[in-house]
Amino acid sequence: MSIFKKGLFKRPNVPLESQEGAPEAALPEDGLWLRCGRCKSMLLSAELAQNAQVCPKCGAHFHLGARQRIAGIVDQGSFQELFADVAAGDPLDFPGYGAKLEKARRQSGEIEAVVCGRARIQDRPLALFAMDPGFMMGSMGCAVGEKIARLFEFALEQRLPVLGFTVSGGARMQEGILSLMQMAKVSGAVRRFGEAGLLYVCVLTDPTTGGVTASFAMEADVTLAEPGALIGFAGPRVIEQTIRQRLPQGFQTAEFLLEKGFVDRIVDRRAQREEIGRLLRLYGEADAWKKG
Ligand SMILES: [Zn+2]
Repeated sequence: MSIFKKGLFKRPNVPLESQEGAPEAALPEDGLWLRCGRCKSMLLSAELAQNAQVCPKCGAHFHLGARQRIAGIVDQGSFQELFADVAAGDPLDFPGYGAKLEKARRQSGEIEAVVCGRARIQDRPLALFAMDPGFMMGSMGCAVGEKIARLFEFALEQRLPVLGFTVSGGARMQEGILSLMQMAKVSGAVRRFGEAGLLYVCVLTDPTTGGVTASFAMEADVTLAEPGALIGFAGPRVIEQTIRQRLPQGFQTAEFLLEKGFVDRIVDRRAQREEIGRLLRLYGEADAWKKG
């Protein structure tokens, strides 16, 4: 029997996967009210915004735009954006990509899926990047890879620690192999940065998947994650179909990864500024001690 008859290359007709434990979206009821996708509570959108987009009833962490995230974590007025003009082209002339980029730019107000810059947290200087879920779900193309690689090079030159926030559906398929190359490019920059003894802290947020997980999301010195975040390479259904085994309960959640040692600590979004400030202080003291 030919392999085609076995259905080996048949595309399974399944909807996008949702993972138990991963935070569901806050669903709009009207402009003023939202319904928590997890506990079904009705929430005032202003109240949710004040609470860093965390459900005050059940603690579900909803998506947060890159700039909101940066504003919530750095010292007020300290953020200076870097590489803001790096934007994706359409290197493969991929059908419909131009229109998709335009729509993402209009909806998110960003020109790419990552925002980079320098700032201070509790008075300690650092370089940081935050990916944006509102821009093609943080997909990584050439411009995203270029911006993050440049940020590590900048931080190496300035001897600054790097803080990253990942959220990504993976490599940007419209840029094909060029987007996959970003994994190696950024990893090279992270490696050179690490060899200089500098600190890289990464916060994995929901969802962090694909080529981002398989590269710089997992290369930090300290890996933090938000509660309930989906973190994985391939989706659970793809894995089950490949290995022909059921996956364990809670597979690919931040909590599961903590138990298996991939994540160092799960930190509620509302406590991250404190936690990261503490890490920067510890690192600064250790660095001063090393220099003697
Ligand atoms: Zn809730």
